Amino acid sequence: MAVSDHVDFNTFMEGVKRRNAYQPEFVQAVQEVAEDIFDFIQDKEEYHAQQILRRIAEPDRVVSFRVCWEDDKGNIRVQRGWRVQNNNAIGPYKGGIRFHPSVTESVLKFLAFEQTFKNALTGLPMGGGKGGSNFNPKGKSVREIMRFCQSFMTELYRHIGADIDVPAGDIGVGGREIGYMFGQYKRITNEFTGVLTGKGLEWGGSLIRTEATGYGAVYFLENMLATRGDGVAGKTAVISGSGNVATHAAEKIVQLGGKVLTLSDSGGFIHDPDGITQDKIDWVKTHKTHRRGRIEDYCAEFKGATFHAGQTPWGVKCELALPCATQNELLGDDARTLVANGCIAVSEGANMPTDLEGVHVFKAAKLLYAPGKASNAGGVAVSGLEMSQNSARRSWKEDELQQMLKDIMSGIHARCLEYGQQGGGYCDYVRGANIGGFKKVADAMLAFGVV
Ligand code: NDP
Repeated sequence: MAVSDHVDFNTFMEGVKRRNAYQPEFVQAVQEVAEDIFDFIQDKEEYHAQQILRRIAEPDRVVSFRVCWEDDKGNIRVQRGWRVQNNNAIGPYKGGIRFHPSVTESVLKFLAFEQTFKNALTGLPMGGGKGGSNFNPKGKSVREIMRFCQSFMTELYRHIGADIDVPAGDIGVGGREIGYMFGQYKRITNEFTGVLTGKGLEWGGSLIRTEATGYGAVYFLENMLATRGDGVAGKTAVISGSGNVATHAAEKIVQLGGKVLTLSDSGGFIHDPDGITQDKIDWVKTHKTHRRGRIEDYCAEFKGATFHAGQTPWGVKCELALPCATQNELLGDDARTLVANGCIAVSEGANMPTDLEGVHVFKAAKLLYAPGKASNAGGVAVSGLEMSQNSARRSWKEDELQQMLKDIMSGIHARCLEYGQQGGGYCDYVRGANIGGFKKVADAMLAFGVV
């Protein structure tokens, strides 16, 4: 007879902390999910007996490796690389690669854990993974970035494959880096397969992949607002970040008739009371992505805007907030300020941008608050569609893909409502996303037995 494991929440979390000492981001991500799952599985004996939560919170494997490369001056540089394969119960591991000096095993484990639930929510057959390196692409020449990407893939290639693990981009990894990594994979294996997503359109990429995360976060926001008979049109929005997700979220807000007031980067934020229009967003895209410039230069280009060094934009009065930069960029006090200033909805473009205290503030205020694992799933969803197109060796049209993205975001929203409705018209989207994602993965794990 199976021995059941009815540990309480605190005992469970003590174990997670003990086993993952010095990995605060991973512990935070597990806690946020476990808070909801404990309640949900209380009376579901099989999940306890099979220790499903404990097993999901332990990655299938963590591959860690050395990445050596030579800089333009002939110096040998040594970086760390990782691929965290968290769970493949419902499909091949899938999740981005991040190049940023803040990358650690803890950060990648949290991202791979979150990705598992997010991918399940899309309804597509994708497991959860994440990878990256503490390599800092800032200030590097194009040749240095190419050499680094090639060296990174020279080890990574043995752990991935179109039916095994399919990485994509993330912070510091865009189309150019995907191209260098795909080129090296193809060269080593002599195979042209859909082993990476976010590829160029000429070599297996999908239309709207670039826009999908930011657009998807705004489609999710529209879905939330619609539950109150409302919409984005005529509302003010505060957005953090100025990379892929932030600029495309801004673009979609503007297309739907909203007014974007801020963007930011690691140096601070710009506030443009006249609104960041499409031509200004185009300038930011070119300046940040192609020229690798700083967001503060916006103020010299567009009069009336102000730069706030070292600050996040959450103090600017708004109705909508979209954190689209990085983890833990919106803290408890920021959440209280947003609520006090009349913010009605928050849709996370980044992964875990709100810390646990902030999440609790949003929940207590009964805001329309979407966690990243639900609202930023549009990117991985279109990556999943890129995999399908690669397998079928065909390409879908832009309007078909736009419709699929909208449908997938509505589907995720519906799944959140199914598990997150609290009565009185309030939906706890965090709970809905956690339980909706967990149930699908957990039921697949039950089917496989103890593996
Ligand atoms: P980019 O590299 O394109 O942009 C990242 C942006 O965030 C830049 O403006 C960067 O500023 C800023 N940023 C990074 N680190 C910090 C920091 N520590 N403090 C303040 N600002 C910071 O990345 P993406 O737009 O692709 O990713 C943004 C977020 O969205 C991440 O959390 C990512 O995991 C998540 N995400 C991305 C997806 C995608 O499809 N790209 C899919 C799902 C989630 P600076 O230029 O100064 O570094």
